[in-house]
Amino acid sequence: MFKKGQKLYSITNYKCPKCHEGDLYPTKLFSFSKAFVMYDNCPECNQPYVIEPGFYWGAMYIAYMLSSGTILGGFVILFFIVNLSIIQSFLIMMTIVLLMYGFIFRTARAIWINIYVHYDANRKLIKKKDD
Ligand SMILES: [Zn+2]
Repeated sequence: MFKKGQKLYSITNYKCPKCHEGDLYPTKLFSFSKAFVMYDNCPECNQPYVIEPGFYWGAMYIAYMLSSGTILGGFVILFFIVNLSIIQSFLIMMTIVLLMYGFIFRTARAIWINIYVHYDANRKLIKKKDD
């Protein structure tokens, strides 16, 4: 959908923001037991994923925006268009967001690191010269 070199490619595919080759996470999205496990460095170009201690605290704001936006949007659809009660709409959206926790967590971190780390098309070549 998005091409390598675009930030959205790295975010939607959970790829390293520097080389767009290495994965951010060692497991698939719906591995519920290890949903929060992230590599320390890019397996391809060695870009550190934790740039400073507590780096991902800021990703909580992104996660908050993603989850509250999802709840609000879904609530509006269920309450005003499907005509469910307030309680029903709220409970359905809370359940959906709880099931999406791995997706929200990973997407928030991918967005956060992409704010600070930018794509470098030559990154892999530099690493190969060093090897
Ligand atoms: Zn990389």
